[in-house]
Amino acid sequence: MLGGGIFKGMAVTLRNFVGSYFYKERLITNDYDWRPEDKLPQSIGEYPKEEGEQLRDTTTVNHYSRNFPMLLHDTGEPMDTIRCVACQICERECPPQCIYIEKSEDKTERSDNKAQFYPAKFDIDVSVCMSCQICVEVCPFDAIVMNSQFELSTPNRFGGLLVRRDDLLKSNDYYHKIHPQEAATRDQKMAADKAAKEAKKKAAAEKAKAAAEAKAKAAAEAKAKEDAE
Ligand code: SF4
Ligand code: SF4
Repeated sequence: MLGGGIFKGMAVTLRNFVGSYFYKERLITNDYDWRPEDKLPQSIGEYPKEEGEQLRDTTTVNHYSRNFPMLLHDTGEPMDTIRCVACQICERECPPQCIYIEKSEDKTERSDNKAQFYPAKFDIDVSVCMSCQICVEVCPFDAIVMNSQFELSTPNRFGGLLVRRDDLLKSNDYYHKIHPQEAATRDQKMAADKAAKEAKKKAAAEKAKAAAEAKAKAAAEAKAKEDAE
């Protein structure tokens, strides 16, 4: 039927729109159960700000929910285990251009012995961010993922919504708490990538060693032949 696709699309939109009022798992911002009635925020200044407090807040939302990006670090000091290497791919690919990165001048030596560049500055203007997740998809280092944090209201409209690197940095443990399935899948992928890289490195080293041994053997054989003649 001519135009059938349009009606199909409208039916899907209508079903999702109506469903968003009835399916409990989709009512992502309606659950304030973690706060007792008398402790509900009464004004902007009372909204949760501490990471611990925010954690209880964000874990009440559906784990498929996403709001704004956060930067991941592994266990330990955030800047010592930050995954971001300031390659700036996300900054270039962000459609509304709301990521601002300044790459460090020198590589830093981390506790895991990796010397790498890091973002001296990494800000996201969440008043512009449209939560599209493109930054997450393009990051080759699994360094940026979506946070579920939604209470970001602030009375400061001049820069108050420019979230700084140190506030964007969250631990991988926190990621596991808010998006358990996604974080587990990402960890598995990273472990598989690491294993593949190590296997490739080992195979290259073995190949180089075999080539060197073959070369040495050929040289020895040539010399022996020369001596015999
Ligand atoms: S989620 Fe989209 S708009 Fe927001 S910072 Fe990432 S790429 Fe930019
Ligand atoms: S978050 Fe990822 S893509 Fe963006 S600068 Fe850091 S490493 Fe590069």
